[in-house]
Amino acid sequence: MSTLQSIRGMNDILPSDSPLWQYLEGQVKSVLSQYGYREIRLPIVEATELFARGVGEHTDIVEKEMYTFNDRNDDSLTLRPEGTAGCVRAALQHGLLHNQIQRLWYHGPMFRYERPQKGRYRQFYQIGVETFGMAGADIDAELILLTHRLFKNLCVSESLTLHLNTLGSSEARARYRKALVDYLEGVKDKLDDDSQRRLYVNPMRILDSKSASTQALLNDAPQFDDYIDEESKLHFEQLCKLLDSAGVAYVVNPRLVRGLDYYTKTVFEWMTDALGAQGTVCGGGRYDGLVPMLGGKPTPASGFAMGIERILLLLQALNVVPETIHKTIDVFLVAAGNEAEAVALKLAEQVRSDKPGIRLQMNCGGGSFKNQMKKADKSGASVALILGDEEARSEQVQVKDLQGNNEQQASSWSEVAEVLGRLGL
Ligand code: ATP
Ligand code: MG
Repeated sequence: MSTLQSIRGMNDILPSDSPLWQYLEGQVKSVLSQYGYREIRLPIVEATELFARGVGEHTDIVEKEMYTFNDRNDDSLTLRPEGTAGCVRAALQHGLLHNQIQRLWYHGPMFRYERPQKGRYRQFYQIGVETFGMAGADIDAELILLTHRLFKNLCVSESLTLHLNTLGSSEARARYRKALVDYLEGVKDKLDDDSQRRLYVNPMRILDSKSASTQALLNDAPQFDDYIDEESKLHFEQLCKLLDSAGVAYVVNPRLVRGLDYYTKTVFEWMTDALGAQGTVCGGGRYDGLVPMLGGKPTPASGFAMGIERILLLLQALNVVPETIHKTIDVFLVAAGNEAEAVALKLAEQVRSDKPGIRLQMNCGGGSFKNQMKKADKSGASVALILGDEEARSEQVQVKDLQGNNEQQASSWSEVAEVLGRLGL
């Protein structure tokens, strides 16, 4: 019988990798709580219609990347390809938007049927942030400052560039789209295949085409600057000013459009050169049009999502992961002999109660003293507690410093917490 394998592009996160994930997730959570954001947990499966309406029929995601299936009741369901649509759906369903301000975050797996490669998977993880009820440039700036702080804390900000653009109001965008299509029709034969296909369904996406010849053609295309509405222009100027005064560097990139239909005004991406083609680690912007599109009242909204795997790849590429995250045990309890084994569990529980901050692993399954000491060394623990039959009888234990130079010492059970404390635990 052949061994079963995971689905292509869907990865196991093994225990040797999970400390890295927990480190990053911990850093993100602590920054989010510094800014007063609250977590929302959402289903992984939603009605297919939600994404068709909320992401856009003519986006890459809906056209070719969704995992869609019929359930036993013949309802069309989809594994979520992104989190914003589900978050808006939940916020509407539970009345979180009416006359309220929300600062929300979520994390978890997303699913897209893409060609797997470094930094691109079919199940990948995002941490997403969505805000509702705030229309100004200040909240856009807050979101960017939050990500900036996170990347500084992670020691990766030197390798990231913030790209910034505005897509204007949907009316301004529609006027511009028309002018762009008029121009591109004239050079249609020279466009790459993908862009030809997009010309009538999602022409704005042509702006961020990867084809050099298409990019060259765009140099003579109409510029959005000539079509932008006054309010969006002001919003963008204010955002730039706020970022300037906060000391956050950015480049204005008029070709940044992002993949999803629902953006208005601000769009931004954090990009790096260190990961090859999959260089965007975080992207977001304002999407004032989405809530009404999903049946709600007009509600200003702004958010972003970051790709966890890409940030992890960056942390590794830059070698900025603290060594200490891989240490998972402080104390290893060795118990050799029948009497020792009989009371080891009791001592272990006592230490865990006396010093809840300590991570104590006990030897299970017996074994010789020598064999258990080897396991203690391998565990990475700083201290071994050694219990023999003699110690068991007198409620004593030997305390051995595995990583420093302190002499081995005997301690009574009642004082062991104190002794561990003196050893820095
Ligand atoms: P790309 O242009 O790389 O396909 P996108 O515009 O489709 O990205 P978004 O929908 O904005 O990406 O998702 C936000 C972030 O999620 C991306 O910036 C990226 O870090 C991450 N991401 C998106 N798709 C994948 C994937 N298939 N595998 C891993 N991470 C991904
Ligand atoms: Mg994509």
